[in-house]
Amino acid sequence: NQQIILAKRPTGMPDASNLQLRDGPMPSCGDGEVLVRTIYLSLDPYMRGRMSAAKSYAASVAEGAVMEGATVGQVVESRYADLAEGDFVLAHGGWQQYNVQAGKQLRRLDPADAPISTAVGVLGMPGFTAYVGLEEIGKPQSGETVVVSAAAGAVGQVVGQIAKLKGCRVVGVAGADDKCRHVVEAYGFDACVNYKDDDFFEQLEAACPDGVDVYFENVGGTVFDAVMRLFNDFARIPVCGRIAHYNDTDAPPGPDRLPGFMGQILIKRLLFKGFIQFDYIHRRPDFKRDMSAWVRNGEVRYQEDIVVGLENAVDAFQGLLQGRNRGKLLIQVGDD
Ligand code: NDP
Repeated sequence: NQQIILAKRPTGMPDASNLQLRDGPMPSCGDGEVLVRTIYLSLDPYMRGRMSAAKSYAASVAEGAVMEGATVGQVVESRYADLAEGDFVLAHGGWQQYNVQAGKQLRRLDPADAPISTAVGVLGMPGFTAYVGLEEIGKPQSGETVVVSAAAGAVGQVVGQIAKLKGCRVVGVAGADDKCRHVVEAYGFDACVNYKDDDFFEQLEAACPDGVDVYFENVGGTVFDAVMRLFNDFARIPVCGRIAHYNDTDAPPGPDRLPGFMGQILIKRLLFKGFIQFDYIHRRPDFKRDMSAWVRNGEVRYQEDIVVGLENAVDAFQGLLQGRNRGKLLIQVGDD
């Protein structure tokens, strides 16, 4: 049972000394449990937080333990009445080939409904994050301008498409020209700006002639500084993530911009609200209904970036924190 364990907490970018591949024991299943063979492991930015000992909204992974993560797999052996060998399931199986779970923790997936990989993508946690962050906090109105960062990623691509369905002008921010082209051509964003360009702010300003009403914040850093200058009165900012800072080892250099930031919040009556998708678990049924229909009829499209082999997971995770992924990042751990 190939596994990746958190051998040592990282400082800065995690590497193979922090996340070690090993051949672990094969688990066996007891009453009410199911043995699952992983097909896809979802790699997500929140995992960087789980590697750290810093206090957060969820417990850290212990040193020496298998890294946690959502998985899509197939039942190999079942001692749980409602699941049978061969069933596909959504699990929290971690970075390993085989895992044992309590049967009641698993959700059966029907490959006839949608490709099973989407259970950890557009129809799963990242899609749900986009849906609730926008609906519950962003509350975009037709004709307003919505900006989303990490626009080509798992969450960002969905945010932009939902905002388009709501009749908004949608402007993406991403770190590569091909990503920007993709969100405009494949997802119908009105514009997308590369934050690595020297004239990023000027391009963003030109793309938002009526200012910014909703900023779906995924990254922080210099992107946030630029969008901040364009907020309209009463703009809403769902604070979903701040990936530009996940590997920070020091406080950013001065000057201290906090007083100016607070001034803008007051003068423009801005609404900043941090959220974790599970805060809105009561919206799951609405999400399932709407997103399944949008995906089925092509109103929401998605891109997956599938890396083959658990042994490549550490490199792929580094890529996620550097913008190498093109869409929702998955590791193909076993055959589908
Ligand atoms: P993505 O698929 O968007 O991948 C991460 C992307 O972040 C990279 O491709 C890269 O794109 C961008 N990025 C990396 N470093 C930087 C940087 N220094 N500055 C700007 N952009 C950077 O990941 P997800 O869609 O899964 O996650 C997006 C965000 O949403 C993350 O911050 C994540 O933590 C957060 N999140 C929050 C949840 C919640 O409940 N609050 C739930 C799920 C995700 P680029 O090329 O554009 O730089």
